[in-house]
Amino acid sequence: MGSKIRVTIWNEFVHERGNDKMGEWIRGIYPEGIHGCLAKALAADDLEIRTATLDMPEQGLPAEVLDNTDVLLWWGHCAHAQVDDALVDRIQERVLHGMGLIVLHSGHMSKIFRRMMGTSCRLHWREAGERERVWTVDPFHPIAQGVPESFAIPHTEMYGERFDIPQDGHIVFLSWYEGGNVFRSGVAFQRDAGHIFYFSPGHETYPIYHDPNVQRVIGNAVRWAAPANGILPGRVTRQRDSLEPITTRDPMAQLDTSELHKAL
Ligand code: ZN
Repeated sequence: MGSKIRVTIWNEFVHERGNDKMGEWIRGIYPEGIHGCLAKALAADDLEIRTATLDMPEQGLPAEVLDNTDVLLWWGHCAHAQVDDALVDRIQERVLHGMGLIVLHSGHMSKIFRRMMGTSCRLHWREAGERERVWTVDPFHPIAQGVPESFAIPHTEMYGERFDIPQDGHIVFLSWYEGGNVFRSGVAFQRDAGHIFYFSPGHETYPIYHDPNVQRVIGNAVRWAAPANGILPGRVTRQRDSLEPITTRDPMAQLDTSELHKAL
């Protein structure tokens, strides 16, 4: 990794281009797309930001882009199924080698998040434009730095428990909704060398990515998820030699296979 963190903001970019009243409404909030809004909000000297969308060649993530990404942000909703499985394989591999992954809002059902979690990632939801209060339950976590103990989002889509994610997630934020539901809205994971953060606020019909607290969380998450030692090369896991003297009890290791090979 160079001196700057190389960030790629991936967005399926479908809702913002809808040819109906809803599309028009969303364009009013995100004229440059959700990815464009996030790129502006996150702009900083320590970040080198690019955006990628599903309609681009190789779904926006050809090797030269993915292999030069330290942290990948993912926003998707209605086009999850269109993402190539081979691309999901490549992203998974890179995360395991150290690339950070930040999954936003409806990205909870994306192929890559479900692959990394190994669970269904299902949850309850309701679109009633209700109020959400986000609580910082681990104020000492790097992603919570500069974020108030609690902040409100006036209108949001409700995401509620049970959220089917693995229990090894570290809960940084917890949300309460007007309708009474609660939700683990900011959860951090590690998968091999890669850091993963899921953050739920961000429904497309409300200006949630314009909220400075939400922007702060995502910016912190980018720095937290950036690989400290760069992306690792392919790992070799075999350890042939022992640190303590041992006599192998593996019968195969005691065979002189050279005679066998000669015979073949
Ligand atoms: Zn939504």
